[in-house]
Amino acid sequence: MERIVYSDNAATTPISKNVYEAMIPYLTDRYGNPSSLYARGREEKKAVDQARIYTAEIINADPSEIIFTSGGSEADNLAIKGLLFSRQLPKNKKHIITSKIEHHAILHTCEFLERIGYTVTYLDVDNQGHIDLEQLENAITDDTALVSVMAANNEIGTIQDLKAIADICHKKGTLFHTDAVQAVGHMKLDVKEMGIDMLSMASHKVRGPKGVGALYCRKGIILEPLIHGGGQERGLRSGTENVAGIVGFGEALRYAKENMDEYLPYVKSLTDHLIEEVTKIPYTQLTGDPVNRLPGTASFVIECIEGESLILLLDLNGIATSTGSACSTGSLDPSHVLMSIGLPHEIAHGSLRVTLGEQNTMEDVDYIIEKINAVVTRLRDMSPVWEEKMNGQPSLKLFDK
Ligand SMILES: *Cc1c(COP(=O)(O)O)cnc(C)c1O
Repeated sequence: MERIVYSDNAATTPISKNVYEAMIPYLTDRYGNPSSLYARGREEKKAVDQARIYTAEIINADPSEIIFTSGGSEADNLAIKGLLFSRQLPKNKKHIITSKIEHHAILHTCEFLERIGYTVTYLDVDNQGHIDLEQLENAITDDTALVSVMAANNEIGTIQDLKAIADICHKKGTLFHTDAVQAVGHMKLDVKEMGIDMLSMASHKVRGPKGVGALYCRKGIILEPLIHGGGQERGLRSGTENVAGIVGFGEALRYAKENMDEYLPYVKSLTDHLIEEVTKIPYTQLTGDPVNRLPGTASFVIECIEGESLILLLDLNGIATSTGSACSTGSLDPSHVLMSIGLPHEIAHGSLRVTLGEQNTMEDVDYIIEKINAVVTRLRDMSPVWEEKMNGQPSLKLFDK
């Protein structure tokens, strides 16, 4: 039988066995409503409280600062809209600053707010995906309610300097939110030390179940809920709690905190090997920051290749990867991230993202390397552009190094 290698962990991760086992009781016997007063409900409330402790611990927050949501997208929406719609916010605060490489959960929220009268500044990034701290500082005005910059990018893996960003925000009197959906469980985060005011997370990117996440919101910041109703989550997110999901999320984070020191270097060693071998392919480069990057993210551009064809052929070999250049979404443009780091269209079209997790092995990685080589050779053999290049056309200049 063909080998199956799941290497798209930035899209989602498989639920781990410990998470699955922790959830089972709450999908069967422990079905009580955590808000009920009788015994069947108290146990469930305890389980949600425990998960809240684990969720707070992994970022060094207080459990009372955690609001469970339906996932990363909702946490992002709650941070931005919840703050801007807050009755406590001074009337003039109608300006938001974010970056051009955010997840759509941030970008589309900002675009919506622009349609209803708010203004948004989208910060540029350099060719490794870092925002310019000076541009950030100059962009903050008295009207700026919030700066939202992601902790680590989901396509190219670049990690931002969160502490430096927070320092600038606070110096200039504004708040700092970070979408840390890709970062939680994949790097150390400390909201107190880094000065983060709000932080989004999602369970399914750290081996928990889908459909659950959380927003950390520092004590003292007042949000308007997006979902009004029975007043769960201290009135900030109504609706009967997703007990099993929250328990699974908590267990995933407990495991991550306890085992991160072990699995992060392991995952990084897999990724380093992959990067070393794949960049040996001629006209192939790593995208994103070569050093300050997520330990499991390897992202490349391979010239004279169509990213989508590459993904499909790798899939035929049982390998799950992704590309920022799919035209399946109805757009022929490569992803906003690849465009923002300044890649020429022709090159951005050949993007490949391989994202590894602790469940992957070195054999997986060797298999991926072997198949990428084979598939790239096959696609280039059929490519007239490649033929031209081999006949002496100079390579497109990618980055100044
Ligand atoms: C996956 C992801 C999200 C969305 O999270 P969901 O739980 O799928 O809603 C938001 N931001 C980033 C950076 C992500 O990678």
